[in-house]
Amino acid sequence: MKITHIKPIPISIPLKQPFKIAYGTHTVYEGVILVIKTDSEIYGIGEASPSSKITGETQGTVIDIIENKIKPLLLGEDPLNIEALINKANSAISFNSSAKCAVDIALWDILGKVSKQPLKTLLGGGGDRVEISITIGIKPIDATIEEANKLITDGAKILKIKIGLNPREDIEKIKQLRASIGYTPAIRVDANQGYTVKEAIWVGKKLEPYDIEFLEQPVKPYDFQGMKQVKNSIAIPVMADESVHSLQDTIRAIREDICDLINIKLMKSGGIMNATKIAAAAEGAGIKCMLGCMSETKVAITAGTHLAIATENIKYADLDGHLGLEKEIVEGGVITEEGENRISEKEGLGVNCRGIL
Ligand SMILES: [Mg+2]
Repeated sequence: MKITHIKPIPISIPLKQPFKIAYGTHTVYEGVILVIKTDSEIYGIGEASPSSKITGETQGTVIDIIENKIKPLLLGEDPLNIEALINKANSAISFNSSAKCAVDIALWDILGKVSKQPLKTLLGGGGDRVEISITIGIKPIDATIEEANKLITDGAKILKIKIGLNPREDIEKIKQLRASIGYTPAIRVDANQGYTVKEAIWVGKKLEPYDIEFLEQPVKPYDFQGMKQVKNSIAIPVMADESVHSLQDTIRAIREDICDLINIKLMKSGGIMNATKIAAAAEGAGIKCMLGCMSETKVAITAGTHLAIATENIKYADLDGHLGLEKEIVEGGVITEEGENRISEKEGLGVNCRGIL
């Protein structure tokens, strides 16, 4: 089997509401859907969700890298040699993790279709669903409580609350939220690098009575010592997100003991193959992982859901990026209901994007 065509397609989808987190506000998702065709009738679909702040990419750089760097590397190759192809891309191209992720997802989709198995079976097997958190961006306390109650009515089992801009208000927000909703559902919080070390420790201690699952990325990603200080000072588990992109970051985070948990994202790791290595390294160190996401369509969210379902050491899922999009361009893939992502037994990812291919 040979790769014959690689085609990146830019997509631009407005968000249902502006999404504000500690380092910025988004109103539109600008990503790339990737199609890899072969000399058989089988083709694979992937996706890149670039982020200038996180992966250092834009929609334009993803298309440029795929057209000018990845295409010459992969055309004519056997798409089933996934690890060799991903390692080849990693060796030839630094950074650009979401562009590589798009390729990786499409290759796994091809493997699933060739072997007539759903992606999760290729990755270790497992059930057909995973509980996910539903995220509320930074907004005033009243609006946060209103949205939380609506999400709970709609079946949300876990809420993820974005914080990190105003320590005092963040504490008050969680206090009032718990007063309104009680002690279910679970709440996890994400500061997206917004605090100083001192602020993070103060907020972390003040949030201890409110049954918080974990605090994500309290301080700047490069501040490993700061992350460690926060981790060692508060009872709430600290999760590294922006501090850990790659397998190499994971090893460093383990050696320097900076976190209790790691948030793996396909867009940071460069896809499923690298993500499985991160999950395995973390497992060896006794660190449980979450599978998170960016704004993504159901292509990448479905890939992440299969991986989360198949991987024992991925204990948490934050795979709701598709829910924020105004328009659905993907057929098939995950069904999100009652706070869970469910997958089918269809081959590969079980998705298509006929409307844009
Ligand atoms: Mg995060």
